Amino acid sequence: MSVKPIIQNTNIVKTLLDRKLQNGDIVVDATMGNGNDTLFLCQKVLPLGKVYAFDIQEDAFINTTKLLQEHNFTLHLGKQVHCIKDSHANFEQYLSESVDVFMYNLGYLPGGDHSIITDPKSTIESLKIASKKLKEGGIISIIVYYGHSGGEIEKRALEKYLESLSSQQFKIFQGMMPFNNHFPPIIYMIEKLRRKKQPTR
Ligand code: SAH
Repeated sequence: MSVKPIIQNTNIVKTLLDRKLQNGDIVVDATMGNGNDTLFLCQKVLPLGKVYAFDIQEDAFINTTKLLQEHNFTLHLGKQVHCIKDSHANFEQYLSESVDVFMYNLGYLPGGDHSIITDPKSTIESLKIASKKLKEGGIISIIVYYGHSGGEIEKRALEKYLESLSSQQFKIFQGMMPFNNHFPPIIYMIEKLRRKKQPTR
């Protein structure tokens, strides 16, 4: 059995989110895929919190439900955990409360059908809603895979959107592994800053 390296984009994202997430949080997996992020979110915020997971693929819905059942979250499905077969551009229809963490994986599903990719228009629409619904102190994580055709367009649209965000309101981290890949996936971590000033010591 091969042992996976510790330095992986998904691990870096989860390590940072681990510091933020708590039992009781309201969280969203914007690109469910095989459900790995949905499972991670369930492990962090249940039993008191709520998880919403979105994907346009039927397979994502099936695979994620199965993964959650295997990890004993069956009783939470349809209650605190909602797997939704719809585009993340339609968040407004499902999310009534404000959100602590949104997770995105943009591009294709690694190991899946590379022809089903996220689309710049719905991605940006979705991010606009996410940045409004995000609580102060909340985080949006994004990993962008852009080596496929159309990927660069989405990457550029995303950069343009992130540049447009107020630096007074959002703190944005960017990271990648430039020496391991011709199209190194890019990580963005976007934190909505708290408006109230902390008392200075
Ligand atoms: N987080 C997943 C990986 C997701 S990859 C995991 O851990 O396994 C990207 C996923 O985005 C694909 O499954 C694709 O079907 C989905 N996707 C593409 N366009 C979408 C859209 N508009 N709304 C929601 N999901 C979308």
